[in-house]
Amino acid sequence: MKKALIIGGGIAGPVTAMALQKAGWEPVVYEAYEDAAAEQIGAYLTVAVNGLSALAEIDAHHLVMNVGHPTDTLSFYTSGGKHITDMPIGGTLPDGTVTHSVKRRDLYRALNAEAVRRGIRYEFGKRLVDARPTAGHGVVATFADGSRAEGDLLVGADGIRSRTREIIDPTAPQAHYLGIYGLGGFVTDPDLHRELGLRPGVYNMIFGKKAFFGYLVAPTGEIWWFANMPGEQELSKQALTDTSPAQWREELMRLLAADRGPAARIVAATPDAGFVTGFNQYDMPSVATWHTDSMVIIGDAAHAVASSSGQGVSMAVEDAVTLALCLRDQPDTASALAEFEHRRRDRVEKVVAHGAETSGDKAQNGVARLLVRLLTPFFLKRAAKQGVGSLNWMFDHRISWSDAAEQVHAGN
Ligand SMILES: Cc1cc2nc3c(=O)[nH]c(=O)nc-3n(C[C@H](O)[C@H](O)[C@H](O)COP(=O)(O)OP(=O)(O)OC[C@H]3O[C@@H](n4cnc5c(N)ncnc54)[C@H](O)[C@@H]3O)c2cc1C
Repeated sequence: MKKALIIGGGIAGPVTAMALQKAGWEPVVYEAYEDAAAEQIGAYLTVAVNGLSALAEIDAHHLVMNVGHPTDTLSFYTSGGKHITDMPIGGTLPDGTVTHSVKRRDLYRALNAEAVRRGIRYEFGKRLVDARPTAGHGVVATFADGSRAEGDLLVGADGIRSRTREIIDPTAPQAHYLGIYGLGGFVTDPDLHRELGLRPGVYNMIFGKKAFFGYLVAPTGEIWWFANMPGEQELSKQALTDTSPAQWREELMRLLAADRGPAARIVAATPDAGFVTGFNQYDMPSVATWHTDSMVIIGDAAHAVASSSGQGVSMAVEDAVTLALCLRDQPDTASALAEFEHRRRDRVEKVVAHGAETSGDKAQNGVARLLVRLLTPFFLKRAAKQGVGSLNWMFDHRISWSDAAEQVHAGN
């Protein structure tokens, strides 16, 4: 049985491992941290229907649905508290499934726990530092602790700051700081959502004067929120971890003071333990080289989609399932990796381009404008211009495990 070294136990990592196992490979996951959900970048995520559909091909969509909840509407407000519009958040699968919201930590834990349950081997505390091809068409990886591992293939599912990307091409572009940092949190006060009249299934977004604020209520009554704030300097790891919840709360409440609406109230009600550590936001230029004959990058390592697109997880999952199908169907690893890039690059670049096109076209001044420019979900701008159906190509993409080739039912 061929062995795959999978670098990263985030989202693309465990999904690739499960898909490769189904394709008859022996995957081993190497994660830098001791816990698959150690790095909390953002409080929660929305997983779009094209991602859920791809997960269904390896019988893993229920994992998202078990820990998440349906979120089918976006509701936008001005800083003055005026309702702008409601719109559907994405498509609907034939069985009625819609976009799901899920805590990042829960999603990472669910996917990795399921991979372990399926018998996939994990090694934690293994940070990839180098990888080289072997004489016999394989690859040998070296980790920061000095240990090594050998396999037939190395899959870099190691995120936006991918080491695998650098190993494959030392001239590859690096992630660059967007001038925005983020915060998130969870409010457990059981009464606040009732007082605010929040409805499950609705994701509210406020274009504040100095910060962009998103929030929703989970079926448990817990309020989930995130905020994006401008920050000229990228915050150091030390600054991010040393800032206390009380300091984050004070800073954010200062920025939200100029706005009407419930944002400041939600932040004030967030207990210290409910804060997610602050994080910098990054962008990734197009990566020219995705693979060698025995190494490949997938997910954010290959193409970071704007976080406002709500497609990062889905792109990572589609990559993972498509890669496994290519390895199942192609005669050798090198041609499978070439076929993988052939099937994925156009679609991924189209999704990335839509995010960039709608977030970076006009130079605007002012904090609020910068935030609006960078963070308005691109489907809102696109829908405003062309109608909601103009993004069907994105949500209707389907991958079929039973077919030899990827099935695309609408666009690419
Ligand atoms: C603030 C924010 C909000 C977002 N919101 C959404 C959303 O609502 N919907 C959505 O679909 N997407 C969203 N995204 C994007 C989404 O988080 C990513 O697209 C997704 O996590 C990519 O998965 P991945 O597995 O490729 O990378 P990651 O999830 O980053 O996982 C990479 C893993 O690799 C490990 N690793 C890194 N380096 C090494 C190494 N050298 N050796 C071993 N292991 C290593 C890391 O510890 C990590 O576990 C958001 C992103 C941000 C920043």
